[in-house]
Amino acid sequence: MRTREIKFNNSINKYSLFLGHNILNILPKKIDLICPGTKKVALIMDRNVPSKFKKIIKKNLRSYNIYFLTITSNERNKSLKSVNILLDRLLFLNFNRSDLIISIGGGIVGDVVGFTASIFKRGINFINIPTTLLAQVDSAVGGKTGVNSKFGKNLIGSFYQPKLVIIDTSFLESLPKKEIICGFAEILKHSIIKDKKLFQWLKKNSKFILAKRKKELKYAIEKSCKIKMLIVNKDVNEKKIRMILNFGHTFAHAIEVKNNYSKKLTHGEAVLSGMILAIKLSIFKKICKNQTLKEVKDIYDENGLSYTYKNYLDYKSVLKLIPFLKNDKKNDDDKINFILLKKIGATTLPNKNKISINNIKKYFKIISQY
Ligand code: NAD
Repeated sequence: MRTREIKFNNSINKYSLFLGHNILNILPKKIDLICPGTKKVALIMDRNVPSKFKKIIKKNLRSYNIYFLTITSNERNKSLKSVNILLDRLLFLNFNRSDLIISIGGGIVGDVVGFTASIFKRGINFINIPTTLLAQVDSAVGGKTGVNSKFGKNLIGSFYQPKLVIIDTSFLESLPKKEIICGFAEILKHSIIKDKKLFQWLKKNSKFILAKRKKELKYAIEKSCKIKMLIVNKDVNEKKIRMILNFGHTFAHAIEVKNNYSKKLTHGEAVLSGMILAIKLSIFKKICKNQTLKEVKDIYDENGLSYTYKNYLDYKSVLKLIPFLKNDKKNDDDKINFILLKKIGATTLPNKNKISINNIKKYFKIISQY
């Protein structure tokens, strides 16, 4: 499998994502090139990443002073407490800004470590090595970092771009199916909001992604990263257009909060449910055709994912979500700010569909019949 380079390039930031299978051996050369002053490297790793990767990285970075730290990834540990522990450790080890922090893990570790890197002595070199499919197609792209607070998820954070992202699909070999579905949900979302061709491809190839077949995984990851980069590049600080990436997430967020972030229901499953509800709302608003909903549902049905939307077929189940819609970050007044779908590959613009709670209740009485 050939290594692919995807370049992120705007007026402020310039860095590359490298995508391939078993490519961790590119690390030393890249570090030499992009952070030549590095003497110490802190490797902060998800506890569930197989230990063979620790050995591979250790071998590749033998010419640096390396320090391994591990994090147990859960939303509770995505906290200022974890950040503080990391900061204390780095200060104790006398790291300075020309040294380097590398995150090796899923979205949780990447978000915590990226945030720590952004505030350590006002910003230290940071490399992200995402190890879940979700992190490879979504969270490691775009520079959003952060932690949770007792007031909600991801409320404390920064925009901080890494110096390099290495997407090595060999990490996915040990990833459980539920986590593959999480990444798949974001790949599908990217196609629905921006790339009809990718969507058509997914109609035939979703089963291979879910079965972790290398060729299809690599294609989908590359396409997905490019879509996310394109959108992020237009709006790095999420003032407007970047919000279209939240398609389906307004409902997904409500589903997760309503379920107390239960481990039984993953973020990806919530996103899969949320996208169907958002498309139904789009049909009600007469901006999207019924056929579009059918095409999307077909992908779910053919890949054993229809259980995600079947939980929200009746009015009562949707009604239970409504109190939890209000906390969404995109809302800047009493109304709920939705990203809706016009057709495959095109959404409405942010802030164009703000709907009051009362209207949502009314609409869903009718929508439930779709
Ligand atoms: P995660 O980081 O919790 O990882 C999921 C599970 O997989 C964990 O149990 C982890 O230990 C395990 N794991 C990781 N790599 C593994 C591997 N190679 N083999 C076996 N197990 C492995 O979850 P995630 O889905 O990667 O990320 C979710 C987080 O990402 C959320 O906190 C979300 O808020 C955040 N996120 C951030 C952005 C962003 O732009 N920064 C975007 C989307 C999501």
